[in-house]
Amino acid sequence: MENQSSLLDVWPYYATLTANVLIAFGFIVLVIHYVRFSTTKGYAKKYDYLNRNEAKYLLVGNLSLIIAVSLYLNSAMVNFFSRGGIFELAVGLFISSIIGVAFGYALYAYLKFYYPSILEEKLMKLRFKPRVSPETGNVMKLLTEDEEDIHLTDEMIEHEESLKYEYDVWLDEESGHKFIERYDGHQHAKLCPSCNFRTLKEYKEEEVLAPTQSKAGLGKKFFKCSYCSHHETHEVNIAPLNEEVIILQD
Ligand SMILES: [Zn+2]
Repeated sequence: MENQSSLLDVWPYYATLTANVLIAFGFIVLVIHYVRFSTTKGYAKKYDYLNRNEAKYLLVGNLSLIIAVSLYLNSAMVNFFSRGGIFELAVGLFISSIIGVAFGYALYAYLKFYYPSILEEKLMKLRFKPRVSPETGNVMKLLTEDEEDIHLTDEMIEHEESLKYEYDVWLDEESGHKFIERYDGHQHAKLCPSCNFRTLKEYKEEEVLAPTQSKAGLGKKFFKCSYCSHHETHEVNIAPLNEEVIILQD
């Protein structure tokens, strides 16, 4: 009983101390992210930075804050319930853990389901923000896929065809000054037939007709262009199930 009550006496102190450290750590992580983003020069580099790092910083920073808040709650409950018995204490610990897990899950769901479209919007804003020519101060023109090839090296064209990288060419039509910006092509966007930029991406797939054992089914893929909002759907065949049945019977 001695040990139990002394643990209960020091627990809130250490829980609050850990929470304070986590609060400071969480804020520092978020501030470092903001400073690194702000000091990255050039839209293409900012794009690359956000694409590679933002989700990680948001996860670590926010998770630290959530754990800290759960610990504050936990230490308040231990303080409050420790006047009662061990059962009341268990209830207090259980409630604060459930609240922490719920917030943690909400953060996970946000980063997995909502955040990618928010990130995509930020990335597209950076990618298509009009560039200003350092020579004339004119707004530069973003060349379409057909117009840009003449400005790209063979190696760059090969990168585009293999979807390794995408290149944007910005041209100052008065002085001929140009920027060639490189983007990671692993997002596998298709060429949009409406605006001719490589920004058409699949966002949904649906089954129209389920495949049977011997007959192919039919599916639909939905694409949307993040630049001009052009929509298109493609019908795709879904392989019949019979092959799987043979495997299952083995
Ligand atoms: Zn488009």
